[in-house]
Amino acid sequence: MNNFYLEDQQLQRLVKRYLPPDFFTWANKQLDDFGAHCAGAISERAVHTDRDGEPRLIKYDKFGNEISKVWVNEGYQKTVQETYDTGIVGYIHKDIPELGHKGNYVYAFTQGYLLSQAEAGFYCPVTLTKATAYLLDRYATEAIKQRFLPHVLATGEDELYEGATFLTERQGGSDVGANEVKAELAGSYYQLTGEKYFASNAGTCGVAMVLARTAGGAPGTKGLSLFAVPWEENRVNGKLRIRRLKDKLGVRAVPSVEVEFFRQKVI
Ligand SMILES: Cc1cc2nc3c(=O)[nH]c(=O)nc-3n(C[C@H](O)[C@H](O)[C@H](O)COP(=O)(O)OP(=O)(O)OC[C@H]3O[C@@H](n4cnc5c(N)ncnc54)[C@H](O)[C@@H]3O)c2cc1C
Repeated sequence: MNNFYLEDQQLQRLVKRYLPPDFFTWANKQLDDFGAHCAGAISERAVHTDRDGEPRLIKYDKFGNEISKVWVNEGYQKTVQETYDTGIVGYIHKDIPELGHKGNYVYAFTQGYLLSQAEAGFYCPVTLTKATAYLLDRYATEAIKQRFLPHVLATGEDELYEGATFLTERQGGSDVGANEVKAELAGSYYQLTGEKYFASNAGTCGVAMVLARTAGGAPGTKGLSLFAVPWEENRVNGKLRIRRLKDKLGVRAVPSVEVEFFRQKVI
């Protein structure tokens, strides 16, 4: 296939039906371009990432210091930048300059449908970033929004922070209420201690949304709170450690890890 959008008439019919006419005229051209890009360069990079360029964990630097860095190949990095620059996350929450209004989830999910045909492991981090943007936009205080949202919604003008969502612990995947990671107040912020057992986009995210339990809270899900964890500052300060990358059967393009927190500063 040369263009995942143009060669899918049913998809084009659905997009036309569900987008307002002025938005459709703009989106139709963008989806045509993105559909060709996904079937072309992005697909080529996907093959490379899946076969011999998959993410790797660099656990130590040359001096033996533990650094918990995740390496991704150059094509992967290029795909990330180009994809977010289309507004796949940003335009759900902020105005599209040419139109003067926001996009919507129909448009964003259509972009995701095209991208995931190249590689589901490229789209997975986008869905995590979408969830992070939604949570921050809807529930965060003004100060937290100002700190993270311009980066999470970046379309080229600001440094991009991809998002992540860490729920699963060894004893609790479906059973989120069994979560044990602790959050303790330390002045104006919280510190996390404990382990998350299946954390996708760790190492490549700028901010992660992490579930943890504050002291004296109710048992089960009612006692859980959600924290915004700035990744890089905590990694550099040795407040988190990636234990290992998961050896998955599929979606190997996205790094999924086990991560430990050591009295980590969060918000
Ligand atoms: C590729 C991949 C990426 C992931 N990325 C993340 C991530 O970024 N962040 C994150 O937090 N987690 C992530 N996870 C973990 C995922 O959320 C968990 O695997 C999922 O929640 C299931 O939990 P579990 O693996 O502990 O399985 P379990 O909860 O132990 O379930 C095992 C089996 O038991 C069944 N089961 C469980 N409870 C019940 C019940 N009450 N009644 C009947 N049947 C039941 C389930 O359907 C399943 O078949 C990822 C997993 C994968 C595979």
